[in-house]
Amino acid sequence: MMKPDDDTVDEDNFKVSSSLVPRTAFRTFCPESQVLVLERARASYLGLAIGDALGATTEFMTPSEIQAKYKVHQKIIGGGWLYLKPGQVTDDTEMSLALGGALLNAGGWDLKGIADNFLAWMKSKPIDIGATCRRGIRDYMLKGQLQSPYNEWDAGNGAAMRMAPVALFTLGDDATLVRYAIEQAHLTHNHALSDAACLVIGRMVQKALLGCSRFELHEITRELVTEYKSFQFNDYRGNTSAYVVDTLQTVFHYLFTTGSFEECLVGVVNQGGDADTTGAIAGMIAGAFYGPEEIPARWLKKLNRDVRVAIEIQALGLLNLSPWATRSAESRCC
Ligand code: MG
Ligand code: MG
Repeated sequence: MMKPDDDTVDEDNFKVSSSLVPRTAFRTFCPESQVLVLERARASYLGLAIGDALGATTEFMTPSEIQAKYKVHQKIIGGGWLYLKPGQVTDDTEMSLALGGALLNAGGWDLKGIADNFLAWMKSKPIDIGATCRRGIRDYMLKGQLQSPYNEWDAGNGAAMRMAPVALFTLGDDATLVRYAIEQAHLTHNHALSDAACLVIGRMVQKALLGCSRFELHEITRELVTEYKSFQFNDYRGNTSAYVVDTLQTVFHYLFTTGSFEECLVGVVNQGGDADTTGAIAGMIAGAFYGPEEIPARWLKKLNRDVRVAIEIQALGLLNLSPWATRSAESRCC
């Protein structure tokens, strides 16, 4: 008898069976180049959740503790300090889905809708919530505040970790990405380093969705390092705290020293520290860059079913609302 989580996963034919929306549905209307963007968008959003679920097991551990316990941690097995079920995700994915859900609900940008969804999520007593996120959401609840004031302690990675839906929704217009990335960030985090991290993640995901080279991806990090030297990662020291500089250094180090989605994520989560969040951010960039064929079927199979369904629906819906989709539709009408 088939296990309940096996019924839509055909490991030999991931491309067809893993998608809730059949590829043939796109093929009727879209040129192959546009189908590829849709597929990479799915992979980016799924990559976020897979990195979160995989990394949560080793969150707050040191590399030597991980090595002693798992040799190499490379299976989605849950556990960790939150005692998760295998495939369960944490705040990184849940806040992303709350954000993406608000945009789909409104059919466009809706900062208040995002704040409302964050508040509903906080009231649902999530398994994990960062202190800065909690403070921002509380300020919205008590004062209706949609922009946290600047705070020198706000350089955590809590706004950067929820950039996947923003990158999909604003694909094709950098000015829109800049505006909305910052607006969503400032609901909870107001700091130049957090803002810069949100933008660089958004730009890397978007560039990768459109099929860029590794060199072009690296170029985006060089622009960031020119502006903020602290993000420099050539001499990576292995720091993995929730400080957004440590987070991005870890993600960039493994992104550019590995050659596959799997290798990148395994490297990141075995570094420990804030491993669910470094996993989530690495997953969204590497997912967009390598595409869905590179996501190991064993990881996809373990991911919580409801999360996967929500991601599949959101990825398609958010991309559909993007400036890129509007332009693509116009070009098809000519
Ligand atoms: Mg988390
Ligand atoms: Mg985390």
